[in-house]
Amino acid sequence: MARTFKALCKRCKKNYTLVTWRDKFPVCYNCQKSALSRGIKDPEMKKMFDIPEELYEKSSFLRDIKLKYLEYGELSEKQIEAFKKVVDKLKEERGKGPEPIPPPDS
Ligand SMILES: [Zn+2]
Repeated sequence: MARTFKALCKRCKKNYTLVTWRDKFPVCYNCQKSALSRGIKDPEMKKMFDIPEELYEKSSFLRDIKLKYLEYGELSEKQIEAFKKVVDKLKEERGKGPEPIPPPDS
């Protein structure tokens, strides 16, 4: 996946958001929240977009795909594939979590 860095949101100019170098107009999760929470009718798409909120917070790419879908009502195979891939990757990263605490010596 492309390297990400923090950039100031161009809309509210208050929050930082994770972007890749390709993002010309970074917008933070907060600013996109209401647009993202619009309902999805297609049950299959609804299921695909039904991922933990924090993944959308982390990835401007996931937000972008969802917003595209909400706007156009459809996505290409490639976009769907990329979306699922990124979700899997983020979930995997999340699954690792912090180092487990070693059991106390007994
Ligand atoms: Zn913002």
